[in-house]
Amino acid sequence: MSDSSTSNFPPEVYAQRLAQAQQGAINAGLDGLIIGTGAELAYLTGSWISSHERLSALVIPATGTPSIILPAVDRGDLALSAIPNLEINTIGWVDGQDAHELAVTALNVDAATGFKAVGIGSSITADHLIPLQGLLGVECRLELAVQVLKELFVSKDQAEIEQLRGAGSAIDRVHAVVPELLRAGRTEREVAADINELILKEHTEVDFIIVGSGPNGANPHHSFSDRVLESGEIVVVDIGGTYGLGYHSDCTRTYIVGGDTTQADPEFTRFYEVLHQAQLAAVAHVRPGVTAASVDAAARTMIEAAGYGEYFIHRTGHGIGLSTHEEPFIMAGNELILEAGMAFSIEPGIYIPEKFGARIEDIVVVTETGCETLNNEPKAVR
Ligand code: ZN
Ligand code: ZN
Repeated sequence: MSDSSTSNFPPEVYAQRLAQAQQGAINAGLDGLIIGTGAELAYLTGSWISSHERLSALVIPATGTPSIILPAVDRGDLALSAIPNLEINTIGWVDGQDAHELAVTALNVDAATGFKAVGIGSSITADHLIPLQGLLGVECRLELAVQVLKELFVSKDQAEIEQLRGAGSAIDRVHAVVPELLRAGRTEREVAADINELILKEHTEVDFIIVGSGPNGANPHHSFSDRVLESGEIVVVDIGGTYGLGYHSDCTRTYIVGGDTTQADPEFTRFYEVLHQAQLAAVAHVRPGVTAASVDAAARTMIEAAGYGEYFIHRTGHGIGLSTHEEPFIMAGNELILEAGMAFSIEPGIYIPEKFGARIEDIVVVTETGCETLNNEPKAVR
């Protein structure tokens, strides 16, 4: 047995995903798929090999056996994935060999017929795409593989949902400790260092840490700084890590330094209640059959009605799984119909420039009748 028995799902899971991907390529009329490294490859094979500037790619032809093309020097790394237990040809190449030609050949298309359409993984970079395009010919249409495999990538199965549940509880345990870290006189950086340790206790990696105090909380992309916390200040804490087999956590709560909410600015108290209700309304709206855009609208209309629309400056949420930001994006214009098994964040925010901000973020999974919330720490400011 390889290590894959302990660090991946059972091989049958990946075998089924590969078969579904191949069927997806056939249904879309593609000659096949060329997938690069990263979350898409990990989803299909359990492999997190990194390619650097050399080409590593999983080629799934419409007809025949998939192949993994990779530098021969990296072959050993495949032992960590499910690949040794799957029906995948391993094609190691050495410097000087044309890896792009190997990838194109693995599509099993008769050179006489020529290529009509190929799905390309989202991590294939231009330095590989351009030579691939040259070999596939000008007649060949290129599509993003994620468009073809949307259903496969977007809907999570029970084993994946279990991973996301574990990630949700892990980050909840970190948030549970945050109030005691937010003491007047400490800097955002000192708090972030403590959070870093706490995330690592519960996860395999830290993905990001936002500690936005006072005016820094009004910048949704702030990370942390040397700003010193003052008693009664509002702090946005948005944190996430990599958990288990590579699934991500992502959760935001808004706190007050010292924990005494009577010290909060009355304007903040007013809009925080609006935000809280808007977040709950969006969660309550989630069920199979509604669009991603309508979940965004559920939160946004409440915030707009209260007069804070111009301060809610981002989409309501994003899908999450083996990557932190993926479909379904919960935003205006996304008419994607939600289905059971889709997992995403619901994270409305209100940001008053130069004063303070607030955001509440939970990960939810669509169920047959509504949704399950994977983050369960209190949402009231504390
Ligand atoms: Zn977040
Ligand atoms: Zn998020």
